[in-house]
Amino acid sequence: MSEIQMKTPLVEMDGDEMTRILWQMIKDELILPYVDLKTEYYDLGLKYRNETDDKVTVDAANATLKYGVAVKCATITPNAARVKEYDLKEMWKSPNGTIRAILDGTVFRAPILVKGINPVVSCWKKPITLARHAYGDVYKNTEMKIDGPGVAELVFTAENGTVTREVIHKFTGPGVLQGMHNTVDSITNFAKACFEYALSTGQDLWFATKDTISKKYDHTFKDIFQDLYDNEYRAKFEAAGIKYFYTLIDDAVARVVKEEGGFIWACKNYDGDVMSDMVSSAFGSLSMMTSVLVSPKGVYEYEAAHGTIQRHYYRYLEGEEPKSNPVATIFAWSGALKKRGELDDISELTAFGEKLEKAVIDTIESGTMTADLARIATGENVKVVNTREFFDAIKSHLSD
Ligand code: NAP
Ligand code: MG
Repeated sequence: MSEIQMKTPLVEMDGDEMTRILWQMIKDELILPYVDLKTEYYDLGLKYRNETDDKVTVDAANATLKYGVAVKCATITPNAARVKEYDLKEMWKSPNGTIRAILDGTVFRAPILVKGINPVVSCWKKPITLARHAYGDVYKNTEMKIDGPGVAELVFTAENGTVTREVIHKFTGPGVLQGMHNTVDSITNFAKACFEYALSTGQDLWFATKDTISKKYDHTFKDIFQDLYDNEYRAKFEAAGIKYFYTLIDDAVARVVKEEGGFIWACKNYDGDVMSDMVSSAFGSLSMMTSVLVSPKGVYEYEAAHGTIQRHYYRYLEGEEPKSNPVATIFAWSGALKKRGELDDISELTAFGEKLEKAVIDTIESGTMTADLARIATGENVKVVNTREFFDAIKSHLSD
């Protein structure tokens, strides 16, 4: 088989620990034999981030803006222990946070479904993709503890000096108080990313808030989504045969567990935090969860939803054969290759990404899987393999 040619390079962001090992194995075993891979490589491993004062992370994000598609390995977000372990100059910020700030995106997370690993919710047949707004609300709040009686007010001073005030509550005793905000820009970018993602994946889009109770705050989210839909996306959605559906958040929760899946569920920041953990664990496992950051400018960054699998890495350093599940990281690569194929009009590349994903699913459905999946598998002929044996099985399915 001749290697598939690429036009534009992928922005490749290498990472840390066990996933860095998996990363190289995926390239060597599953991609380089089939694709004449073009990448612009950025080493986001903690050692090199530290050497470059984290400039490499910024460069990688800017390269993503330039080329349009990136694939990212999991990376360590340093804490005090990591500062010591890696002798860091500083406790560098989360690379994902830095990249998100530059790309201005929304994170979409979808489970990879295979027969024999059954969702807890028995009617779920297709993936449910969670789209979480990642700015503001309770995550950027200001809070107070109130010791005793008094009046709490919301005060806004406009740039021209005009003051608007509303009484929040007249306290007759101790209590608590919280102020939070969001911006029209951020909500609009979130809405755009959701509409664009629904179009690019051909799935319905759901959005829910509590606008009946929060008549200004949540209602603004609802209105921004609705206006954008009516003015920019309705015709495109109709042409693509997909729907935009708005409901109240409690109604959405009740409906989600009665549907078969296959849609995108856009959530406000807090709802997305809570619901993505519910959806991912009800579908099975973090090692089967894909994640893509979509910017309103049409830029994509693919990754796995899990971290660097630190505990497995320390065992690997002691000489243990890799046993981790590479599926989500493989799907980060296949997702990026498919998108590159689509943007550059290289149908062989898109087809290869699809074939690779199918080979992975076929491998697991035929019973060959890593230990984390075997624990929750319902099939009869389950064969537990290490990562290398898992790659061999995928390769034999790839050449079917
Ligand atoms: P983690 O890497 O997601 O792993 C937590 C546990 O989940 C593992 O110990 C393992 O359980 C299981 N697991 C996760 N992925 C697996 C896979 N592919 N195959 C098999 N088992 C898997 O989270 P963490 O250990 O809390 O974090 C480690 C580092 O990752 C941290 O430094 C954190 O900053 C970073 N992190 C990065 C990202 C990112 O770059 N997107 C996201 C989250 C965390 P068992 O040990 O029980 O087998
Ligand atoms: Mg959470």
